[in-house]
Amino acid sequence: MSAPGEYLLIALATPLRRLFTYLPPAETNAAGMPAGLRVRVPFGNRQRIGLVLGHSNDADVEYRRLKRVSEIIDSTPVLPDAQLQLLRWAADYYQHPIGEAIMAGLPTRLRQGGSDQLEHPRGWRFNPDGPDVDMPRPGTRAPRQEALLQLFESRHPEALTTSDIAAAGIMNWRAPLQTLVERGWLLEVTLPSDQQPDDTATLEQPLQLNADQSRALATIRSSYGRHQTHLLDGVTGSGKTEVYLQATADILEQQRQCLLLLPEIALTPQLIRRFEDRFGRRLAILHSGLTDADRCRAWLRARDGLADVILGTRSAVWTPLPRPGLIIVDEEHDRSYKQQDGFRYHARDVAIMRAYRESVPIVLGSATPSLESLFNAGQQRYTHLDLPARAGQARSPAMHVLDIRQAPMHGALSERFLQMLRDNLAAGQQSLLFLNRRGYAPVIMCHACGWTALCHRCDTSMTYHKHKQRLCCHHCGHEHPRPRQCESCGAELIEVGHGTERVEQTLAEALPEARVLRIDRDSTRRKGALEAMLQDARGGEADILIGTQMLAKGHHFPGVSLVGILEADGGLFSTDFRALEHMAQLIIQVSGRAGRAEHPGTVVIQTHHPNHELLRTLTEQGYPAFASAALAERQTLDLPPYSHMALMRAEAKQASEAERFL
Ligand code: ADP
Ligand code: ZN
Ligand code: ZN
Repeated sequence: MSAPGEYLLIALATPLRRLFTYLPPAETNAAGMPAGLRVRVPFGNRQRIGLVLGHSNDADVEYRRLKRVSEIIDSTPVLPDAQLQLLRWAADYYQHPIGEAIMAGLPTRLRQGGSDQLEHPRGWRFNPDGPDVDMPRPGTRAPRQEALLQLFESRHPEALTTSDIAAAGIMNWRAPLQTLVERGWLLEVTLPSDQQPDDTATLEQPLQLNADQSRALATIRSSYGRHQTHLLDGVTGSGKTEVYLQATADILEQQRQCLLLLPEIALTPQLIRRFEDRFGRRLAILHSGLTDADRCRAWLRARDGLADVILGTRSAVWTPLPRPGLIIVDEEHDRSYKQQDGFRYHARDVAIMRAYRESVPIVLGSATPSLESLFNAGQQRYTHLDLPARAGQARSPAMHVLDIRQAPMHGALSERFLQMLRDNLAAGQQSLLFLNRRGYAPVIMCHACGWTALCHRCDTSMTYHKHKQRLCCHHCGHEHPRPRQCESCGAELIEVGHGTERVEQTLAEALPEARVLRIDRDSTRRKGALEAMLQDARGGEADILIGTQMLAKGHHFPGVSLVGILEADGGLFSTDFRALEHMAQLIIQVSGRAGRAEHPGTVVIQTHHPNHELLRTLTEQGYPAFASAALAERQTLDLPPYSHMALMRAEAKQASEAERFL
């Protein structure tokens, strides 16, 4: 930017690829308005919130048509300069309109103009002096008031927050609490801050690292204070999380902050608990399940340096940190790091760029690293830290490719696999079936003319959900009732293909005595449903688990001794050159869910292509061999990471317009 000029360059969340020029408010000097301040400006016929990005001496519109900023919201920048620069880089690199990209770096509350000042949390404590006037205790007349009062009395002189009260299991406490405060039994207090350190005696102590973990940690340690990317490559259970925890502890000791990205918070409760047990209140968690207010609060605690360990999903990569020391990306191969609509970015890649710009090390962890990361490690751009499973630990299960060409089928299950399920059931063992497609059938087709039900908005095939009797587009979310007959010729419609809902039905018919539990996004929509189902699954309340990739992540089912990958063919011949890599990663992940050390179990992969070379490499030699072979194939075909590729997408109301443009 040139020396501060009299005009302001403002980022507004619009699809236009430009900044907007405004005059400062009357009698205000633009030079006194640094980049990063939020402002309210007239735009079209309404007011919008924008962010000052810079200054200019000339305007790209006539002076008399220039408008003034109507209000300056912040007195100091809401985003530090490093963060603004990172967002500007990302807007340019990912070719996204700058205003939308910049505003994506703020939590919703702040985008809407809310305050960026952290309010101190409220709390209450027991009043030992009691009410001014002589008053009997609530007692049995008001049992909830009495229960609350007893809680506060027993914890006196501690102040309790709303979450402490909820944790004590008292229901509907707001009104009785208010009464107790009004009558003088309790005192309302403002807690000094939530940064009171935990009593270290209550926090969990680090484990003694084994030789491989020590070696990995030593290499990470040697890079503190400068940029280095480390690939921490180790099967599930090899101890990656313990390495993250101890590296994080180092960083906190240096009075710096650590950012840890995770694919999905709901699927990784154990990892979060371990961070909470180790670091207590110094943690802030950012994910989409939070209310806007809580999310904003966690973000501000990170920005203001009140939280030292920040755990979050994809968008947490934009959290500003005043004292960054380390970034960790767990399950770095996971697809959820790639934002696929709106402002498209890959959070792992942004994290690496961020670590580079902030001169801090970054650790990418995975049991099945992406081919890109393995390639970079092979080129010595990243260090490759191996954590081979320790001797005596769970062996990997045996994998079998099951040829289903011309095999008699029961829905998505071949006769042979069904027999294996039956045997496993008779032996009192649990089985797990994996099919990465929810719903009943992915296609509804006319038996007479071949017409298929397509989404009116995005032209993809609508998935039939039988329990709802509706067709749903898994691409855009559009849904409507199932048509009675073909919309083209009026003939009867048939269901083609299999989703988890249909497999559940097949199992009910073929193995009526089996207790089946379906775990996918549809069956776990209700809050707490997933936890309840996982508990049932682990507690042996189910004989057969059927699910999508929700089953593949994070959870371990020691009672499962047979795993069926119902369909591998989709990944073998897809137009997406990464489909095979993703399929292999899922197969390894799902396989890793099953078995005990003494009982590693069996994995069966149903396919029409039993001689597919890379599939064989995976099942016979494991993921590292698969990855080398797949990389060699990419090189032969000149595909990324050996070349660069861009995807052109056009969207239009009329398909012909999009085609003409392309
Ligand atoms: P990963 O993250 O690679 O799946 P974890 O760090 O979760 O592996 O470790 C798997 C299990 O082994 C956990 O129960 C953990 O407590 C335990 N563990 C990890 N490192 C050690 C160690 N050095 N000594 C003893 N137990 C360990
Ligand atoms: Zn028809
Ligand atoms: Zn759609």
